[in-house]
Amino acid sequence: MSYKNYPMVSRVVFGRGCFNQLGDIISPQRLNSTAPFIFLVDDVFKGNPDLTARVPLAYNDQLIYISADHEPKTSQIDELVEQIILTHKDRPSGIIGIGGGTVLDIAKAVSIMLTNEGEAKDYQGWDLVKTPAIYHVGIPTISGTGAEVSRTTVLTGPSKKLGINSDYTPFDQVILDPELTFGVPKDQWFYTGMDCYIHCVESLNGTFLNAFSQSYGEKAFELCKEIFLTNTLTEKESQDKLMMASWHGGMSIAYSQVGVAHAMSYGLSYVLGTKHGIGNCIVFDHLEEFYPEGVKLFKEMKTKHNIQLPLGICSQLSEDEINTMIDVALGLEPLWENAIGKNWKQSITRERLKELYQKM
Ligand code: NAD
Ligand code: ZN
Repeated sequence: MSYKNYPMVSRVVFGRGCFNQLGDIISPQRLNSTAPFIFLVDDVFKGNPDLTARVPLAYNDQLIYISADHEPKTSQIDELVEQIILTHKDRPSGIIGIGGGTVLDIAKAVSIMLTNEGEAKDYQGWDLVKTPAIYHVGIPTISGTGAEVSRTTVLTGPSKKLGINSDYTPFDQVILDPELTFGVPKDQWFYTGMDCYIHCVESLNGTFLNAFSQSYGEKAFELCKEIFLTNTLTEKESQDKLMMASWHGGMSIAYSQVGVAHAMSYGLSYVLGTKHGIGNCIVFDHLEEFYPEGVKLFKEMKTKHNIQLPLGICSQLSEDEINTMIDVALGLEPLWENAIGKNWKQSITRERLKELYQKM
């Protein structure tokens, strides 16, 4: 038995307003005046001086707005890297991602591809990255995915949706400022928050569970119940706690694995482009047989926050499309093994997945 030797984020700052420390934090990392910092910022902040005026631009630093309308693609990473190389004489001093899971993952992938040859798709998988990434900083503006703490950056490539999982993927620095989550729309708050909740349920009910994962998973699970099911928290407390739940949920799956909802949600995303948070919710709503307690609480949360999930998203799909979804889901073997156990292939058949997808 060999245990994972897991790299973690080297530095983290937490606190309301700590985003103001960004300039001081990154300036010692500046290599020279022609090696810029590149700020990748969610374009939802375009024209919002509360955030953009506080981005500490100096010398040749560049701010690039990124749309989070679609999940990151390997081709998008390659284009960004090329744009950065063509614009600047020197390799950047660092990449700073400011946004949700989409922008955080793009920042991680760009920082890797600036030092590694070839295309981003060549690195989808486990431990394929050979050269350390350039300095990269993650600043979440919405809480739940755990992308700020994880060892992966999830990308859709020409043939698969799969992360670049490597020791060089985690951020060198994370800035956790719950004030930045202020403007998140209610539905999106719920979907991304439920990503965290589902990470906990899948980790805590998986066969890979161990004391390391459990200690983080239980904490995040308790925080989610407090945030989504009680009326005891102020808005600020709720923002602070969800940011920490996301972190702990990410730490929990780091040392275990996700499960059925994630496997099936990857299928939806690959064929329909359904985004991660809402896709997980759509799937999880139908998973009582796998996670009875977790799904019961999820339905209570949904009702309490008056969330209407889309219905019938698979009803118009062709046989081929359903088959592709099933292929993508079944391809995620570690997730099924975690959820069901070593003999998962005996109970998880194509027919069973088809029936489940057809309910969604
Ligand atoms: P997201 O980044 O796609 O953002 C969702 C929406 O919220 C976007 O419209 C965005 O513009 C908006 N938004 C973000 N911050 C806001 C703010 N402060 N105010 C107003 N609007 C704001 O959503 P997400 O759920 O955080 O991330 C999903 C992505 O994360 C997927 O691509 C998924 O694959 C990835 N993911 C990665 C990991 C990992 O470990 N690397 C884990 C889970 C999910
Ligand atoms: Zn997730």
